[in-house]
Amino acid sequence: MIERHGQIRDSVRAICARFAGSYWRELDRERRYPTAFVEALTASGMLAALIPEEYGGSGLKLSAAAAILEEIHASGGNGGACHAQMYTMGTILRHGSDAQKRLYLPDIAAGKLRLQAFGVTEPDAGTDTGAIRTTAERHGDVYVVNGQKLWTSRAEHSDLMLLLARTTPKEKTAKKTDGLSVFVLDMRGAKGLAIKPLRAMVNHATTEVFFDNVEIPVANRIGAEGKGFRYILDGMNAERILIAAECIGDARWFVETATAYAKSRNVFGRPIGQNQGVQFPIAKAYAAMRGAELMVQEALVLYEAGASCGAEANMAKMLAADASWAAAEACLQTHGGFGFAEEYDVERKFREARLYQVAPVSTNLILAYIAEHVLGLPRSY
Ligand SMILES: Cc1cc2nc3c(=O)[nH]c(=O)nc-3n(C[C@H](O)[C@H](O)[C@H](O)COP(=O)(O)OP(=O)(O)OC[C@H]3O[C@@H](n4cnc5c(N)ncnc54)[C@H](O)[C@@H]3O)c2cc1C
Repeated sequence: MIERHGQIRDSVRAICARFAGSYWRELDRERRYPTAFVEALTASGMLAALIPEEYGGSGLKLSAAAAILEEIHASGGNGGACHAQMYTMGTILRHGSDAQKRLYLPDIAAGKLRLQAFGVTEPDAGTDTGAIRTTAERHGDVYVVNGQKLWTSRAEHSDLMLLLARTTPKEKTAKKTDGLSVFVLDMRGAKGLAIKPLRAMVNHATTEVFFDNVEIPVANRIGAEGKGFRYILDGMNAERILIAAECIGDARWFVETATAYAKSRNVFGRPIGQNQGVQFPIAKAYAAMRGAELMVQEALVLYEAGASCGAEANMAKMLAADASWAAAEACLQTHGGFGFAEEYDVERKFREARLYQVAPVSTNLILAYIAEHVLGLPRSY
C-alpha cells in the first residue's frame, strides 16, 4: 500500500481552509492568479516537497506531492497555478549538471525563484511535439531563440521557463523528436521576449510567448544538445500521476458536494437524493473515483520503486480524468439550475475538470499509447 501522508494532507487542508470558494470565484471572474494561495503553499514548503534535502527541499516521495495536489482539489481549490513546478523541477534534478542544480534548486526550494512555466506547445504542435518550430541556434556562448509558444501557463508568474526548442532542423535528424533541446530560460528582463495573456475557459494564467532573438547562455542548456524530447518524456510519468491525483481530488469534491446537496434539497416534499435517478450517477461516479484511485496508487508504487510505469501512469491519468468528469456531470445535474449559479462553485469546478480530457495529454493519445505499447497494436499515427 502506498503511504497516505495523513499529516501532510491535514496541513494542506488547513492552508486551503484559509482560501474559501469565494476566493477562487473572485479570481476566476477576473482571471487573476492566486498569488496569496501560492505564497502560502510555498511558505509551508509544500511546493518543495520533491526537491531533495541537500538542495533545501523536503526530499519527499511522489506520493506526498500527489497527496498535496489531491487535497488542494478536494478542498475546492486548484493546483494548476503551481503544480508544474513540482514536475518541471524534476528535469533539472535528473538531467541538469551539478552546477545547475546548485544554482536553481535551493532558491526554488526557498521560494526565491519560481519555475512555473513550461514551454512546449506551439500553435502547430500540441499532441505532435516533434513538430515544434521554435528554434535555438547556437552562436558561440549563447543560443538565439526565435519562434512562438502557445498555452504557456503561468509565464507571467514565473521567473524561469523550462523551454523545449529545436536545435537541429527536422530534415537533418533521423526522427522528428531528435534535435530538440531543453533550456532554463531566465525570463526576468529577457530581451526579445513578449508574453501575451490568453483568456480561456478556465483561470489558468495561460499565455502566448513570442521569442525574437532571445539569447540563452549555453550554460542554461539542460543535458546534451538534441536529447531534450527524451528528458521531457522522462518527466511525463510524474506529471501524469500528479494530474491524476488532482482529478481524484476534484472527483471527491464533486461527489461530496453533490451528496450534501442531494440530502438537503427537497422537491415534491422529499430530498432529491431519495430518487434513484439522482443517487445512481453520484454513486457511479464515486465507484469510478475509487477505481481510478487504485490505479493512481499502483502507478505510484511502481514509480517509487523505480520500475517502469508508463502504462499505469497513463491509465491513472485517463481513469481519474474520466472519473472527475463523470462526477462533475453528476454534481451539476444534481444541483439543477443552481449548478449554473457562480456562488455554488460547481460551474467553476465543472469547467476546470473538463480541461483534463485534453491537457496535459488528451484521452485519445493515452488510448493510442495503451493500444501500441501495452497491447502491441500497430502505431496509429
Ligand atoms: C488551459 C491549458 C493550459 C495549458 N498549459 C500548457 C503549458 O503550460 N505548457 C504547454 O506546453 N502546453 C500547455 N497546454 C497545451 C496542451 O498540452 C495541449 O493543448 C494538448 O497537448 C493538446 O494539443 P493541441 O491543443 O494542439 O491539440 P491537437 O494536437 O491539435 O489535437 C486536437 C485533437 O485531436 C486529437 N488527436 C490528435 N492527433 C490524434 C491522433 N493521432 N489520434 C487520435 N486523436 C488525435 C487530440 O486528442 C485532440 O483531441 C495547455 C492547454 C490548455 C488548454
